[in-house]
Amino acid sequence: MVINQINDKSVRSVSKIINSVRTMEGEGFIVNRPFPTHFLSDFDPFLLLDEMGPVDLAPGEAKGAPDHPHRGFETVTYMLDGKFQHKDSKGHAGKLGPGDVQWMTAGSGIVHSEMPEKEFARTGGRMHGFQLWVNLPRKYKMVQPRYQEIPSSRIPVAKTDDGKVSVRVVAGQALGSKAVIDTVTPIIYLHFTMQPGSSISQTVPRNYNAFSYVVNGAGKFGNKTVERGRMVIFENDSDEISIEAESMLDVLIIAGVPIKEPIARYGPFVMNTKEEIYQAIGDYRTGKMGKIN
Ligand code: FE
Repeated sequence: MVINQINDKSVRSVSKIINSVRTMEGEGFIVNRPFPTHFLSDFDPFLLLDEMGPVDLAPGEAKGAPDHPHRGFETVTYMLDGKFQHKDSKGHAGKLGPGDVQWMTAGSGIVHSEMPEKEFARTGGRMHGFQLWVNLPRKYKMVQPRYQEIPSSRIPVAKTDDGKVSVRVVAGQALGSKAVIDTVTPIIYLHFTMQPGSSISQTVPRNYNAFSYVVNGAGKFGNKTVERGRMVIFENDSDEISIEAESMLDVLIIAGVPIKEPIARYGPFVMNTKEEIYQAIGDYRTGKMGKIN
C-alpha cells in the first residue's frame, strides 16, 4: 500500500511558465512584462506586472512616466535599485528608493507622474523595480484614493534559522513576520532571497491565485528549472508553494483571492463595464480627477 500517494498534492503544481515581453513604457523606459500580453491578458486579481530594468543608465538617460491618470485599481511600486519621484493631483509628492514600496489605491481617480529622481537622473546608475496592478472589486472601485508609502526600513524582513533564506514581507505573512501594508482584498506579496541549495515552503491558501517571478538566478519549481525574467503560474491544488534555489535566487511570490467580476480596461482605467470606461475618460478630460500643480 502506498499511503504517500494520498499526499501527492502536498505542494502546488506548476500550471504554466510565461516569458516576459520586452516593451516600452512612459517616455520610453524598458520593461519586462509577463502580463498583460497576447499569452495572458490578466491573472485575477492582478492586471499587470512590469519589471523596470534591470538596466544600467548613463547620466541623463533615465526616463519616467509624466502626468497620467488611474481609476478603478491599485498600483504597487517596489524599487530594488534606482530612485523615482512622484507627484499627484491630491498634492501628494515623495521619493522611492531601493527597497521602498508605494501601495497606491487609485480608486475613483488620480493623476500622477512617476519620474526619475533629479539627482539619480543626473548621475545615472542601476534601475530595477516592479510595478504591479491590483484590481479592485466593483464596490471599491470608486473609493477615495489612498497611499501607503513604506520605506525599506519599515518592510519586515524575516530569516530562516540557518540564515540561508530571507524574505521581505510586502503583503501577507511569511516566516512568522506580518506585513505593515494593509490591502483592500487579501493579497500576498513576498520577496525571497535564497542561497544555492536552500528551499522554501510557503503557505498560500488554495483559494488564492498565485504566481512567482524570478528576479535573479534560477530556481526549481516542481521538476522545472526557471530562470530570471520568467513567471511561474501555480495550480490551486494545495495550500503550500515550494521553491528550491539552484543558484543565488531572488524570487517574488505574489498571490491574491480572485475577484471574479467582468473586466473592462482601457489604458490606465480598469472598470467592470464599457460605460464606466467612457465615464472615466470623460471625468479625466473634464478635469474631475484633478491635475498636478
Ligand atoms: Fe501610474
